[in-house]
Amino acid sequence: MPKIERKWLYLVFAILVIAIIAYLGYNVYQQQTYPTITSIKNKGILVVGTSADFPPFEYVNQSGAIVGLDIDIASEIAKELGVKLVVKDLSFDVLISALQGKQVDLVIAGMTITPERSKVVDFSVPYYNASQAVISLSTQKFLSINDLKNKKVGVQTGTTGESWAEANLVNTSIISNSNLLHYDKLSDALLALKRGDIDAIIIDEPVARMFVRTVSGVQYDFGIYTGEQYGIAVNKDSKDLLNLVNSVVNNMKTNGQLDTLIQKWFGSG
Ligand code: GLN
Repeated sequence: MPKIERKWLYLVFAILVIAIIAYLGYNVYQQQTYPTITSIKNKGILVVGTSADFPPFEYVNQSGAIVGLDIDIASEIAKELGVKLVVKDLSFDVLISALQGKQVDLVIAGMTITPERSKVVDFSVPYYNASQAVISLSTQKFLSINDLKNKKVGVQTGTTGESWAEANLVNTSIISNSNLLHYDKLSDALLALKRGDIDAIIIDEPVARMFVRTVSGVQYDFGIYTGEQYGIAVNKDSKDLLNLVNSVVNNMKTNGQLDTLIQKWFGSG
């Protein structure tokens, strides 16, 4: 082979080797820097855990689909990742363990950012402010916490409403421990209220307002300011995903998309 041709061959070979090394190196770099994002992209789906009993954040609509403000935010995250969104409907109190057990990639469930939860999962930047409220049947009106004296009160297991009721109703002896009834699903608490098993329910204020608009015979009694903020929960070992979620939420906040969605799901009522 003439000398000059061999030189070119070496050059092409060297370029090829460098390209392969660079490609492999880049892949390893990607997997180390973006381990969760890479695995989600490889799966082709983003699995989001929620508890679809919390309108208008997440609920099952008349055609049986899980929809709501949180689901729309989840769709934006899936879009940013370039994957399909899969929503898993679980009871609220198992969501964090499902996240830790990697059955879901994210939890979006009107979940309040609390110090206890922040010990075990990371939260995104907040996307909604909320407090608690009391609802009851329209037949008896409660105006203040003291009106709940010796009443039967329902809460959802594992929620901030449950903790609030334990601290401010049970521990203050306004109601006895056995008068605080715990339900896995808010829909079961509503059924219990309708049946007369309980006198009132303590739930997040925005959801209380939605229930009294959509469930007949149920009224909004009073609000309890707790200054909560909802965040999206991410596994502690998934900082790459947390950063992506934060950038999606921050973008939705600054470009007005989040406000538009809030308007869409809460309407003017
Ligand atoms: N915001 C409340 C909490 O985080 C309730 C959430 C819910 O019931 N989906 O505990």
